[in-house]
Amino acid sequence: MRETYVAALDQGTTSTRCLLFDHQGRLVSLAQQQHRQYFPRPGWVEHDAEEIWKIVCRIIPQALDDVDARPEQVVGLGVTNQRETTVVWDHRSGKPVGRAIVWQDTRTAGMLDDIACDLSAEEIYARTGLPLVSYFSGPKLRWLFDAEPGVAERAARGELLIGTMDSWLVWNLTGGVDGGLHATDVTNASRTMLMDIRSLEWDDELLDCLRVPRAALPEIRPSMTTFGTTCAPVPGIPVTAVIGDQQASLFGQTAFDPGDAKCTYGTGAFLLLNTGTELVRSRHGLISTVAYQEDGEPPVYAVEGAVAIAGALVEWCRESLGLIRSPAEIETLALSVEDNGGCYVVPAFSGLYAPHWESDAQGLVVGLTSYVTKGHLARAVLEATALQTREVVAAMNADADVPLRSLAVDGGMTANNLLMQTLADILDVPVVRPMVAETVSRGAAYAAGLVAGYWADRAVLRSYWHKAAEWQPRTTPQERDRQVRAWDDAVQLAIGWGH
Ligand code: ADP
Repeated sequence: MRETYVAALDQGTTSTRCLLFDHQGRLVSLAQQQHRQYFPRPGWVEHDAEEIWKIVCRIIPQALDDVDARPEQVVGLGVTNQRETTVVWDHRSGKPVGRAIVWQDTRTAGMLDDIACDLSAEEIYARTGLPLVSYFSGPKLRWLFDAEPGVAERAARGELLIGTMDSWLVWNLTGGVDGGLHATDVTNASRTMLMDIRSLEWDDELLDCLRVPRAALPEIRPSMTTFGTTCAPVPGIPVTAVIGDQQASLFGQTAFDPGDAKCTYGTGAFLLLNTGTELVRSRHGLISTVAYQEDGEPPVYAVEGAVAIAGALVEWCRESLGLIRSPAEIETLALSVEDNGGCYVVPAFSGLYAPHWESDAQGLVVGLTSYVTKGHLARAVLEATALQTREVVAAMNADADVPLRSLAVDGGMTANNLLMQTLADILDVPVVRPMVAETVSRGAAYAAGLVAGYWADRAVLRSYWHKAAEWQPRTTPQERDRQVRAWDDAVQLAIGWGH
């Protein structure tokens, strides 16, 4: 008998991967390709959804070919994706209308009050769990409808379809122009600012407010259910899960129980705390979001602290400044000095997310003297990620009865040991990295495999989780306080600069 597998299609901010996992939870195949980032104006970030679909058409067959697998050996496919990024496409031609507006894009920052119409920011938060900022899909759609003549009318007539990346991919995977399924899952829908987070349905008043025609929206389904069978690029694979990337990594870390938390360090940093079937409202600037939903079960919720720029700052040092040639070099450069030399970098490239939600804040570097070298700058770059995490953890601790006792981490940046130590020092809790990498893809595969009956239960998945490394806090409380105070001052300057 031939081996069977579960596949994950992981459509990230910078690249798309297809992975196959076997029955023991081992990664057996991985195909990956980057896509182009478009920065047409300051604050604008776009992707070409067609390019991403073409990449998907290459990497799925490649992942199967690499282990000589036939489609019938893949019992389920889980789709996971960069969240909030918004695509509008023509259902007859299958072509996107313009480029996808990416989650980091801040073009709507100046129009948020106007967008809210009669609804207050508090009311929007009460219904959706989200602050009124440019991060989410709803404002991006409103911008598109206002900016592009005829788009709103065509959408209302049912000629155009609206979706986040998951919907775009599921529609294409399940047939595209020949009757593809237009659906999304509750986790992705919970990031649109259009869904009522309790009823899990599109909210008419929010749709009116953001001028989004209901006819063009996807059907909302649980994350773990059947989304049809693929027609392309490889026919015959059941799509059994769709889940946003950060929720997927919570699942991939097997953080199934209330109180379980994880932080993923990729382009941004995202700390999610599972709150079970209880919808917890933050009083300190965190988002309420859907963690996942199994078919026929109530949703499981999470609170989330989202930080827009983490690895993206390292990428900026490479790509825009030429300070380093590879992301890993930031560690070598930072280790060439003892400390940050008094320098702080606040990477408010997309405004500031949690817990500040200041769409207008702008990035800055402070504390420059002739003493500061590129080594000090590299340290400040890594510390920015740790200090932003601390703000989110402080908000979570202020909301919760019990403070966070340790932090489970994953994502591309966790390869950086100096960052992991800095994180433990600044948070004053141990930081734990699991042996299993690729937790986003793994979470999508776990969800898809459970639906397909590939794994009997979650206990099996938990048995695949092993600790790989742990960092203990080593710094003094005085040193920590000094850094936190300097950071807080720098953040206030970044907020003030934008106003
Ligand atoms: P995403 O899924 O958001 O595309 P990944 O988890 O693939 O992100 O991580 C990629 C990010 O991590 C990039 O922004 C990159 O700059 C950063 N990164 C990768 N390796 C390192 C490293 N050794 N040190 C610091 N940052 C790193």
